[in-house]
Amino acid sequence: MLNLVLFGPPGAGKGTQSQKLIEKYGLIHLSTGDLLRGEISQGTELGLEAKKLMDEGLLVPDAVVIGMISNKLDANKTAKGFIFDGFPRTVAQAEALDELLKSKQSAISGMIALQVNDTELEHRLLLRGKDSGRPDDANPEIIRKRVKEYNDKTAPVAGFYKDQHKFTSINGMGSIDEIFAAIDHVIASY
Ligand code: AMP
Repeated sequence: MLNLVLFGPPGAGKGTQSQKLIEKYGLIHLSTGDLLRGEISQGTELGLEAKKLMDEGLLVPDAVVIGMISNKLDANKTAKGFIFDGFPRTVAQAEALDELLKSKQSAISGMIALQVNDTELEHRLLLRGKDSGRPDDANPEIIRKRVKEYNDKTAPVAGFYKDQHKFTSINGMGSIDEIFAAIDHVIASY
């Protein structure tokens, strides 16, 4: 199985690159942000609780996202592999993901981090906020909170995969195709 973790701050291009990876490798895309927005649009209790935190730019509890990922892994038993996008976002989530995959005789192939500077990130998110309709993209104060959550809680997840020799960082500032070629090159080395 090819199990990739796409890593990077909000606006790094994880969603865009995921779409290209799905086309090329036939992987299942698991974005916890998309799954949570699905819960919100269905008006579930989980969605209502998550929305309060998401609108503030804060992370939702580990148990909530781990549960959602576990359900998706169970629902896609014959998949060729998965792209984890926006998950794991804490070290506890990374540990839980390792356990979940181990119980399915699988493992993470590698984490690929997209490096983009803060000014470019804010610019991209504000631009996306104009037509994505995402309340957390439209407000500079919330964007800064999301970047702070990323630096405080999510950046350490890179160390978790570095310790396992599964971490590669690439420049996320080029064209979509250039960045995809760099990702593809990393995948070829697995
Ligand atoms: P995203 O679409 O990945 O930018 O996620 C949007 C929001 O959903 C985040 O700001 C968090 O509030 C929440 N979220 C998504 N994935 C996770 C996760 N793995 N852990 C905690 N919160 C998450």
